[in-house]
Amino acid sequence: MFRIFIPKFYSDFNCIADACPDTCCKDWDIVVDDETLEFYRSSGDEKLVNALKTDSDGDVILDFDSGVCPHLKDGLCSVQTKYGGDKLCETCRTFPRITQDYTVFEERLLTLACPEAARLMIIEEPDFGFLSEKREVSGDSGYDNEFMHFLLAAREMTAEIIKKDASFEKMSEELFAFTRDVQSLVDDEVFDITELLRLDRSDKRLPERDDVFDIHRDMDVMDKNYLTLIEACRNDKMPAEINGELKRLFLYYIARYYLTAVASYDIITTVIRAYCAAVVCGALISFTKAENDSAARAVIYQKYSKEIEHSDENEEIFRRLDI
Ligand code: SF4
Repeated sequence: MFRIFIPKFYSDFNCIADACPDTCCKDWDIVVDDETLEFYRSSGDEKLVNALKTDSDGDVILDFDSGVCPHLKDGLCSVQTKYGGDKLCETCRTFPRITQDYTVFEERLLTLACPEAARLMIIEEPDFGFLSEKREVSGDSGYDNEFMHFLLAAREMTAEIIKKDASFEKMSEELFAFTRDVQSLVDDEVFDITELLRLDRSDKRLPERDDVFDIHRDMDVMDKNYLTLIEACRNDKMPAEINGELKRLFLYYIARYYLTAVASYDIITTVIRAYCAAVVCGALISFTKAENDSAARAVIYQKYSKEIEHSDENEEIFRRLDI
């Protein structure tokens, strides 16, 4: 039976609008979907059409050349005001809500690129228990159902490691050891769940801290000053009191990316990305003295997501990290 898995923080989300320390109406390239494009072009409203341009991939996007959305007026969206929320393009209509579509089931999540979503998922202590709810994977899913069952079991075990009462370093060591072993099974196309219980988890090496910061130098970002900031905090160690938040950052990454291995056969990059995000955000929190300021920490997690997480180019750079 088809099921949709919806964590409570997804249902709890409400845009905080003019109280938002950022806005989703700046910096991005927002692709306009076909249905919205048809409405814009048939509306007779020149402002709607003039606000569009075509990017290097041939997609029609909103023209953010001035840095902010051309429809943003006095902090409000003029398309929403004039035509109603259902006439916004799909990205604007749904942000920061995400649907992970696995054909025979769906998972709902928020993207960390919104400060309020970051607060709900990382600063609060949300329930990521949906990761262990059983999924029925059968029929014509378009992928190998046995492999998906294997990934679901491996993801659940990964979440258990993250949730253990251990220091960030100990948790990371166990996680890398487990993930290396799981990746070997995936590489050999051994999708037997009982094998997961027999892994020796002995290779506990972590990525070198210097390497983590070095690879960020090449990242594709919207705000070039952000790379300078990351470089400046390279010697700042993560504060122990944010251990729980950094673990939730891991849970977010595995919730969002682990099952995509059903197509890519790559799970180790998800763990590398989560680890790098935690190391850099931890250093940024220390550097900016945000240990006792949860609102500032939410913005640090959100900004990292906005600048680093949502780029295919950056994902490729993470794959190059020597582990
Ligand atoms: S970034 Fe999030 S909280 Fe801020 S305006 Fe956009 S949806 Fe609302």
